[in-house]
Amino acid sequence: MLVLLLLGAAVVYAGPIKDETKCGYESCIKYDPSVLNVHIVPHTHDDVGWLKTVDQYYYGSRNYIQKAGVQYILDSVIKELWQDPKRRFIYVETAFFWKWWTHQGDDVRHKVHTLVRAGRLQFVGGAWSMNDEAASHYQSTIDQFTWGLRKLNETFGACGIPRVGWQIDPFGHSREFASLLAAMGYDGLFLGRIDYQDKRARLRNREMEMVWRGDDDLGNSSDIFTGVLYNTYSPPPGFCFDVLCDDEPIIDDPDSPMFNVDERVTTFFNKVREMRSHYKTHNILVTMGDDFQYQDASMWFKNLDKLIQYANLKAAKDGLDIKLFYSTPDCYLRAVKDANPTLPIKQDDFFPYASDPTAYWTGYFTSRPTTKYFERLGNRYLQVLKQLQVVSHLKEHNKFVLNELLSAMGVMQHHDAVTGTEKEHVAHDYERLLDAAIDDASIIARQAFNKISQRSDTKPPIYEYERCRFNESSCSVSENSEQFVVTMYNPLGWRVKQPIRIPVVEGKYSVFSPKGEEIETQLVKIPDFVQNIPTRQSKATHELVFLAYLHPLGVKSYYIRRKRNISKRNTKKSNDIYLNVNDYFKNIKDNIEFEYIDDVNRQEKDVPEIYISEPFRSVNKKIDIQEKIDELSGDTADRKVLKDKSGAQVSEKLENDNDKIDDANADKADWNVLKDKDSTKDYIDEVERLKGIERVLYRSRNYPFVNDDEIRMLADEPAIIERADESYIENEHFKLRLDGSGQITHLILPDRTSNFNVQFFYWTGCVGDNKKPEQRSSGAYIFRPKTTQPFGMSLNITGKPIGRVVQEVWLESDQNVAAIVRFYDKLKFMEIDYTVGPIDITDGSGKEYIIRYETNIVNNGVFYTDSNGRQYLKRKLNERPQWNLTLEEPIAGNYYPVTNDISIDDGVYRMSVLTDRSHGGSSLQEGQIELMLHRRLLHDDAFGVGEALNETANGKGLVVRGRQRVLFEKSDQRVEKQKRIYEYHLEPIVFVADAKDLELNDWVTLDNCFIGLKKELPEGVHLLTLEPWSEGRVLIRFENYLQKSVNSTRAVDFNDIFSFLTFVRFRETTLAANQWLGRDKWTWNKEKEFVGSFNKNYGSFDDVSNNGEEDSVTADDGFVIQLKAKQIRTFIADYVISM
Ligand SMILES: [Zn+2]
Repeated sequence: MLVLLLLGAAVVYAGPIKDETKCGYESCIKYDPSVLNVHIVPHTHDDVGWLKTVDQYYYGSRNYIQKAGVQYILDSVIKELWQDPKRRFIYVETAFFWKWWTHQGDDVRHKVHTLVRAGRLQFVGGAWSMNDEAASHYQSTIDQFTWGLRKLNETFGACGIPRVGWQIDPFGHSREFASLLAAMGYDGLFLGRIDYQDKRARLRNREMEMVWRGDDDLGNSSDIFTGVLYNTYSPPPGFCFDVLCDDEPIIDDPDSPMFNVDERVTTFFNKVREMRSHYKTHNILVTMGDDFQYQDASMWFKNLDKLIQYANLKAAKDGLDIKLFYSTPDCYLRAVKDANPTLPIKQDDFFPYASDPTAYWTGYFTSRPTTKYFERLGNRYLQVLKQLQVVSHLKEHNKFVLNELLSAMGVMQHHDAVTGTEKEHVAHDYERLLDAAIDDASIIARQAFNKISQRSDTKPPIYEYERCRFNESSCSVSENSEQFVVTMYNPLGWRVKQPIRIPVVEGKYSVFSPKGEEIETQLVKIPDFVQNIPTRQSKATHELVFLAYLHPLGVKSYYIRRKRNISKRNTKKSNDIYLNVNDYFKNIKDNIEFEYIDDVNRQEKDVPEIYISEPFRSVNKKIDIQEKIDELSGDTADRKVLKDKSGAQVSEKLENDNDKIDDANADKADWNVLKDKDSTKDYIDEVERLKGIERVLYRSRNYPFVNDDEIRMLADEPAIIERADESYIENEHFKLRLDGSGQITHLILPDRTSNFNVQFFYWTGCVGDNKKPEQRSSGAYIFRPKTTQPFGMSLNITGKPIGRVVQEVWLESDQNVAAIVRFYDKLKFMEIDYTVGPIDITDGSGKEYIIRYETNIVNNGVFYTDSNGRQYLKRKLNERPQWNLTLEEPIAGNYYPVTNDISIDDGVYRMSVLTDRSHGGSSLQEGQIELMLHRRLLHDDAFGVGEALNETANGKGLVVRGRQRVLFEKSDQRVEKQKRIYEYHLEPIVFVADAKDLELNDWVTLDNCFIGLKKELPEGVHLLTLEPWSEGRVLIRFENYLQKSVNSTRAVDFNDIFSFLTFVRFRETTLAANQWLGRDKWTWNKEKEFVGSFNKNYGSFDDVSNNGEEDSVTADDGFVIQLKAKQIRTFIADYVISM
């Protein structure tokens, strides 16, 4: 079928090209289906950074690290291809190809065009890099394919379109990636690495090639042929003819004493016959190449020419049914298709990957956690800036900086970048690249925000917006300005409530909404464990916290002013712990019913005070305080006040518990505020009064405090809250109970109470010389703990700021782990903000830190992890769906990649942990979720990187700070959860600008609130992409995130979406926007049918149930398109501005 090219996108070579285009499948040589066809596939595997940086690899610099120079590879290959039309070569990474291409003159470009148009040089994969499949997010995978394929399309047209995926080195393969590739129109996918047990079984059963279903909801449109290469991607042993190899060349001079043609050909025949016995058709694919090979391509091609020539001669002479020829993966796939085999099916994924019994490649799911976070942050910037460029209709030349960011993000997807398996200096180079790209592209936000606020792009800008390091609670503008503007953009198609935390120095601040109304805020101290992060350079001591209510595709600004002329008395007051706590509770008492805060249409209440929430201690700690008071005052008489008021029984219990708390811990408290006896007395009275108010407060909510069983378990009397040694934090959705020792014990929901705890542990890594599997070390790739139980650490409460916007508990251990557990007012998640590191290695042992969430959910060893942030796969402890597992690594072998989400479920309730980056995770014990947060190791695991994963910064072990959001909800609540996931993945990007010359009165006259959508997108619809494509043209993707059901199709009306533009025409493309939609999809004979749902059928695959009924398909109608469940539809659309 004819492949149409994208109009307007083609910047095709304009020189004289003969009309003899026979690229793609048409360029494949005629083969004889009755003989064994040996497809000789010359290739090079060029990592976009690994042991060397991208540029070091490209230029061939630092060859003492690795002899690798990509420019020479391409120079050399083109020269060799040109010499003989039989030769073939494939190229994969467009990041390198494009760099090389831009350096070539007309002569070379002409040759390359000729080679591409004749199918002699073919692109496979073709994305910017060969992306990882564990830590990468589907949005970024789609972007990096779109970017790489666009370059190929613009340069070579139809002949530059890759037809097969080429994921030969990534360390495990995701189901979502298979689904994406199918949606991009690829005909097949080739893999290099699958689990050694899986591979053994597949070789034995001739199941190396299969039909893989990428997504149950999408059904056969997500099916893709998938082939596993025989020898990863290397040549058969003994047949590496590269300058980097030592194998014997083919010596064909019969007079030479070294003549070896017969021996070489016979050996090769033996190898290909062995290969053939594991595949179903008369075709085998022999990879002839390896990492950074073909720098001197003549060595390879000269020997391959001879191998092919003499092998075919021998076959003809001896009457052997075998034929060798230069080929490509495309041509191999075409030949397999023509052979029409019946293939086995695959419906799960290829995680985790083990290369031998002790080598589970599950460490890289977490390796370099700060790089993984930065990559995710980069995506947020990219999506926001792409949208802002369109939304605010900025000048087209900004595409230059957007492209820089697209390139940097494409590089980050590489399977040695986001994975953390690169050398330390390379990781720093990736960060440099991405940081520079974000910095340059941020000009778009500056222009857009200034334009929107002034309704003009001709006026000089009024703001100089800066990026902040919110992840370290630092921001130079807000720390140094008396008044400043905070502007943010919500890239989602629905309204979101977003907690905003602005780092500031201590003081009193007013925050004003776009109309100049003061909104409710809370000043929360930044804990010492954050302030002391070694890389942090900030004088901020507090964060100003408020909730922002953001419109779909909305820009919103807030004006923040530090209060001036603070009286001496007030200053004193702000330093006083209990007077502020006092203020807080007084206010709570006065306003027991919280008002729904929405700064769009709410009636602003006058909220003049800012609540300065100093660490507020649990009641137990108050007893500590009591002791301290006694000590300080030398007066023990006051102690009776508490005893008398609390009742003897309670006091006795408290005193017992109190014994457990060590003095060192008590000393941590800041006692300086206790200045005299009067305040001591005030304090004790206050404690009593607060307890009374707390009770009132708790009663005012709709919670059962604990269920009946727990009440029996915890106390004899029902009024559990009367116990003085416990405390709570809460919002309207949750309540968290802490006991006197600082342990979180329960989570109380409106209709359920669960045991609950957040714990930190570490695994210690195995150490060995890696010469045998049993001597394997834990390293950048491999997770291999020494023990079957991790080492625990105890946490103490060191702060408990409570206010109307946020309630927090600070937990600290003495092993450089600390966490903040918090609830924001109204928001239906628990947030865990952790700080881990420097990991102590003074005992000579590498450690891998984990967080565990413990509940009483009965999950029966089953948990769910996401696939690149999109679909869920059921995991069972110690099991694999398709083969009988022998597990020598019971911990590492049960780890799976978590891109966004891991959950456990008891059929009624589900706990999900949403992450801000990728991790390795599992559920090793009932009711638990475990995520690995940080790794510091002292040994290499011998898979090439040659360095221990021992990250340092400023001379100390690296400190990692991250956040997770924990959701508790009914098992059937999928839609809400999906929205929470998007809201976390695409949190608004916040910029801050000084406003010292801009008074509030003037500021309110500006346009401080912009709404990009006419209305929210229908529930179930996500605007996955809004990207400038060319003048007056955008790339737009809508995604239906619903699971298949009778009511899961959604309609979207193109001209009832955006408030600022009107579409005049649009046309649908494949997912990566390099082909118009409409090319026929290949179908294959299958050994059996797919089940309706892998997750439902895992464990009982013989039941071919067809669950998940779908509603009948409605056709598109004009500008109204229909999105089926899980479908992503991609369009190129022309628009006019209607702002
Ligand atoms: Zn690689």
